[in-house]
Amino acid sequence: MTKPLPSTEIAYHDVLLHIDGNWRQASNGRTSPVVNPATGEVLGVFAHAGEVDIRAAIAATSKGFETWRATSPFDRSKLMRQAGELLRARSEHVARLLTLEQGKPFAEAKAETLSAADIIDWFAEEARRTYGRIIPARSSAVRQLVIKEPVGPVAAFTPWNFPVSQLARKLAAALATGCSIIIKAAEETPAAPAELVRVFIDAGLPDGVIGLLYGTPAEISQHLVPHPVIKKISFTGSTPVGKQLASLAGQHMKRVTMELGGHAPVVVLKDADLSRAVSTMVASKFRNAGQVCVAPTRFLVEEPVYDEFVAKFSDAASKIRIGNGLDAETGMGPLANARRVEATEMFVQDAVQHGAEVVTGGERIGNTGFFFQPTVLSNVPTSARVMNDEPFGPLALMIPMRSIDEIMVEANRLNFGLAAYGFTRSAASAARIGDDIASGMMSINHPGLALPEVPFGGINDSGYGTEGGADALESYLNSKFVSHLQID
Ligand code: NAD
Repeated sequence: MTKPLPSTEIAYHDVLLHIDGNWRQASNGRTSPVVNPATGEVLGVFAHAGEVDIRAAIAATSKGFETWRATSPFDRSKLMRQAGELLRARSEHVARLLTLEQGKPFAEAKAETLSAADIIDWFAEEARRTYGRIIPARSSAVRQLVIKEPVGPVAAFTPWNFPVSQLARKLAAALATGCSIIIKAAEETPAAPAELVRVFIDAGLPDGVIGLLYGTPAEISQHLVPHPVIKKISFTGSTPVGKQLASLAGQHMKRVTMELGGHAPVVVLKDADLSRAVSTMVASKFRNAGQVCVAPTRFLVEEPVYDEFVAKFSDAASKIRIGNGLDAETGMGPLANARRVEATEMFVQDAVQHGAEVVTGGERIGNTGFFFQPTVLSNVPTSARVMNDEPFGPLALMIPMRSIDEIMVEANRLNFGLAAYGFTRSAASAARIGDDIASGMMSINHPGLALPEVPFGGINDSGYGTEGGADALESYLNSKFVSHLQID
């Protein structure tokens, strides 16, 4: 393991707020505990911000915005690339914190950290391409310009399932466009995002450009969202909370990006390459113990290949090694918190009561930590709760389907629209799956989502706006129109 750089050698219990260029305790001294989901033990504490800290962060972000918007895109880009390099150099340390507080296997934590560095690099490159344009005027004495300006200070709320990469998306897009940002990262996983913030501070980011708060989520959002200094809200998390924040933002006419829950359908047609479908979907389903917004969930399998697909998928699922994420042999770690264990148990019991069969798994493992078996449920009826609510856990739902027409109806039954997957050798069927399923993202015959350069976002109850690709920058920019009549 590489030695952490000196500035990263902080004790776990010292997860601090970052306000106006300083790492600090909450002004009232309050702290809250962080639990290791693999052991149930308290790892340490984070500083729990109160109103004074929130106000200080708002004042600092206002000042930070003035400095950062005046920094040239060239210099912003250079600093961001340095931060990306620091993150790569510290990736072992960051990944270890991430595994300790979130539970995912170390290899996944490392991959997430390195993917965050790739996201930072990509947005750093785009920072230099926030071009405006000249619109031909009706008179030769008039110049018509469109100028791209940063929207202003951003309030970003990020989740515990991908504490580093989901934050990197918001942070990199904001900084690339010249915005300052106050982050409220998830209280359950505070140390890894703090280390992501630290690489920007250590790369020389001016004071106030990034603020980092932890505390009571509703208290922080109630202060930040309506505040006139804050010009844009970006949230990743559950649909109910997203709706609350979008509604509050709407009352104050704030720009909003919402990346919410999903319930991804997986279309498996009878002409699919079944072993490819099984290997890619088992890996996607049980990555991060299924706590992934784009996780494949409803497997809609044509009847002629249903039994074979379910048998092969369940066999592979039952062989996944469960354990502490710091153990090199572990294929799936614990769930991130006790709430997910309770929800997963409830979903399984309810599905069985509605007539589903448990093919493999279905139970919590032991009483230490938050472990749950990789679970496959077969013949799950649409009346089961898990067929309607996002499972956000290691549950694969298998449903036999008579035809592609029937599959399309089921795929579009829910109001979610984040990710969808398809497996077929037919170009015509692939085109139909791509065209007819209502979702923000679709991947056919491989797991092809979430690269920095491609759109990442949903529709309907899965939210709006995209956090990847060139479109992501637009949501942090205003288009100012300037019309200039030359009078001399
Ligand atoms: P939750 O709804 O209580 O919280 C979800 C996230 O929102 C957390 O990070 C939390 O800190 C934050 N949050 C909650 N209330 C807030 C408020 N008033 N203001 C600002 N932020 C607030 O749910 P949970 O139990 O933590 O997670 C379970 C559900 O969340 C899952 O079922 C899943 O649907 C969803 N989720 C989605 C994603 C995603 O990537 N889209 C990530 C994490 C969780």
